Amino acid sequence: MSTYQSPRRVYLETYGCQMNVADSEVVGGILGTGGYALTSDIAKADVVLVNTCAIRENAEQRIYGRLGLFSTYKRENPGILIGVLGCMAERLRSNLLESDLVDLVVGPDEYRKLPGLMDRAFAGEKGVAVRLSRVENYDDLTPLRTEGVCAWLPVMRGCDKFCTFCVVPFTRGRERSRSLRSVVGEVGDLASRGFREITLLGQNVNSFRDGANDFAGLMREVAAVDRSVRIRFMTSHPQDMSERLIGAIAEEVNICKYVHLPVQSGSDRILGLMNRTYTVDHYRRLIHRIREAVPGVALSTDVISGFPSESVADHRLTVDLIRELRFDGAFTFKYSPREGTKAWDMEDSVPEEEKGRRVWEITGLQHAIALEQNRELIGRTVRVLVEGPSKKSPHEYTGRSDTNRSVVFPHADEQPGEFADVRIDRANSATLFGVRVGDVIGAAPQSRGSAA
Ligand code: SF4
Repeated sequence: MSTYQSPRRVYLETYGCQMNVADSEVVGGILGTGGYALTSDIAKADVVLVNTCAIRENAEQRIYGRLGLFSTYKRENPGILIGVLGCMAERLRSNLLESDLVDLVVGPDEYRKLPGLMDRAFAGEKGVAVRLSRVENYDDLTPLRTEGVCAWLPVMRGCDKFCTFCVVPFTRGRERSRSLRSVVGEVGDLASRGFREITLLGQNVNSFRDGANDFAGLMREVAAVDRSVRIRFMTSHPQDMSERLIGAIAEEVNICKYVHLPVQSGSDRILGLMNRTYTVDHYRRLIHRIREAVPGVALSTDVISGFPSESVADHRLTVDLIRELRFDGAFTFKYSPREGTKAWDMEDSVPEEEKGRRVWEITGLQHAIALEQNRELIGRTVRVLVEGPSKKSPHEYTGRSDTNRSVVFPHADEQPGEFADVRIDRANSATLFGVRVGDVIGAAPQSRGSAA
């Protein structure tokens, strides 16, 4: 417990993936029980924490830029503490303490120590806690979530896959899963608090295992908690996309018909160098199998362009695969060498400009495909979980379909958390636009095989 009279206030900024967003909610819970309170106003903060990402060089550069701004702030407010959390803390460890700016460095498996470390840092003792754990999964903690419609729920941590480009196994450690019972209990709690969509999270979520229960078993149990709550999951690895999981997605009415399945490259040679453990043909068969078992399913993927030694011919294979498989979405990134990974020792042979050109080509192709697919939905009705006002107008509301498409429609009497059927009359590559048909649905299960 902090010995300070009133709770010291902590401003927490989060970068990177949804796992970091979920971790920040865990940190919020730990700080609350440790005698600290969160504030959204940095001017009122006694402690500034940055939950960081190390997946790409430019993610770290962005955080260095932010720390530079905090250094000015700290000069004006010398009593405040600055702490770095997350993957960058784990990667750079005590090196981050070399500047006078940083007082605390805490890795993803050591957040329970934060209140104690902060108490000691106020007494002048800088702290580093970066031990990775084989068991820590924060199973027993209650994350501090703001009320809302959608919740993120980590079910496993770490990764054992060791893709050669990826720092995650080094910054987040080995795989470990929460217990099925605690996940199911948390889903029940979230449902009773009004959350209507829950995304099960993990770096490699479909390798979840609790005794005899695999991820498919977890998904079925979670889906059965409350059929009016949509269930999503991310991110999955093709190697662990089992027939049992495909069956659960197909059969459970409230598991969203959307699968994000990173392919990374369309070249077997590059997949081998990446240690992705599958071939293009295996991946292609998986996509066909998912589409066969789950009619109307939406599929998205990740691609890395410019991996070491990726030739123009390798790149063309990736472009051809994107054209062939017609994903609903694709997130394409330039390869970024990360120290400590196996790929770090390979020559970063593709010039930055050429990486950018390849990303641009894939992104352009994917936009065209997404636009065609979205336009095919014009005239159809999709069920939308209403999330709230759109960014552009308070007179329009936005929500997402079962298949994760953004849908914008004129606001009438809907409330966030309700379901509405929207007839689509216009589309671009990212968003569907339409008008509501029929009454809103308070807490009804998803209709099986919704149009989008
Ligand atoms: S599966 Fe590969 S890319 Fe994904 S977190 Fe694990 S090592 Fe990284």
